[in-house]
Amino acid sequence: MKNRFFLTLTLFISAIAFSQSSYIFCGKLIDTEKGKIKEEQTIVVKGNKIVDVLKGYVNPENSDDEIIDLKDKVVIPGLIDMHVHIESEHSPKTRLEKYILNDADRAYNSVSFAKTTLLNGFTTVRDLGGTGVNISLAKAIKGGKIVGPRVFTAGKSLATTGGHADPTNGSRRELIGNPGPKEGVVNSVEDARKAVRQRYKNGADCIKITATGGVLSVAKSGDNPQFTIEEIKAICETAKDYGMHVAAHAHGDEGMQRAIIGGVKTIEHGTYMSDETMELMKKYDAYLVPTITAGKEVEEKAKVKGFYPEIVVPKALAVGPQIQGTFSKAYKKGVKIAFGTDAGVFEHGKNGKEFGYMVEAGMPVMEAIQSATITNAKLLNMEKELGQVKKGFLADIIAVDEDPRQNIHTMENVVFVMKNGEVYKK
Ligand SMILES: [Zn+2]
Repeated sequence: MKNRFFLTLTLFISAIAFSQSSYIFCGKLIDTEKGKIKEEQTIVVKGNKIVDVLKGYVNPENSDDEIIDLKDKVVIPGLIDMHVHIESEHSPKTRLEKYILNDADRAYNSVSFAKTTLLNGFTTVRDLGGTGVNISLAKAIKGGKIVGPRVFTAGKSLATTGGHADPTNGSRRELIGNPGPKEGVVNSVEDARKAVRQRYKNGADCIKITATGGVLSVAKSGDNPQFTIEEIKAICETAKDYGMHVAAHAHGDEGMQRAIIGGVKTIEHGTYMSDETMELMKKYDAYLVPTITAGKEVEEKAKVKGFYPEIVVPKALAVGPQIQGTFSKAYKKGVKIAFGTDAGVFEHGKNGKEFGYMVEAGMPVMEAIQSATITNAKLLNMEKELGQVKKGFLADIIAVDEDPRQNIHTMENVVFVMKNGEVYKK
């Protein structure tokens, strides 16, 4: 009898806890759909959803409901970064770590990267390549075992032999081996299909290819084309069968053109994009993910002696300074822009710096914020759930101290973070 009483009591208490709502008073609220700021609004959150957005400051009906006072803040939908590497962070030790870290070591490291990312206002990220630990990390976050952003991951990136994401690049000969589709290395149309299907089996959400050489791989060229157009087409067609889109790392123009014509959805970096390729981007409805922060950071780090292997330094010094200018030109030509930083190439949590660089390059503040919210939500097929503070959407809500139209750098200092209705920073 006594047990039964406690059971009923527990059920009653949990029912109250479950029905409790949060009323968030917003001094200013950014409407990302209209690109405007609304004054004095109340967001009502129940469970993991936004159940209402009301004019003025509306007090809760139940005394159990919680008030979150952000009257002196600017409230924004949770930010989305389309290009991070959540399981690692680049350092002078990176090359050695490839041979000494176990997956478990990477997994423990990734826990803090994920937390830092979330606490800096990025409630969702697209992870564009790691060892596969990223897939487990995404699952652990989803299952509530660790704190981090919602992760859509590519698992391991796809490359060709010796290409930017060949995992044994720069190794001693007997360690080079012969990685294949399972390890993300393809050299034919058949390999390409198999590699995509393998990623699907492993639990990836999207596909990343390295369409051209890259800066940080231990290889000579940072911009040569590395896939045939037939291989790219096979990857994109197979990915489509499995409900996945394809992102292409690309610095050089030829590889970029093959990727766009081959059917990729996003071009990452886009460093040496020609006018002709910008027109192709528009024609094929591809998006540029600028990663200006990564460009700036690799340029700085390349000046620190010993930070990168010698073969990387000239590439970092050539590619780094180009990215912001290309972004500026592409934006002005009407190429669609999706916010993404390449965090992991630099310290996680600094993702917000990208806003300042975008605005400096000529993009209006509100459009930069839209690129990190509604645009990215759409690319992730989450436009009915993410990217807006709106009735029925997931309760991913952040706040900053200042109006970003007056000071864009306020985006680097997020003071409030709610994800899925749960407060992580207050
Ligand atoms: Zn990257």
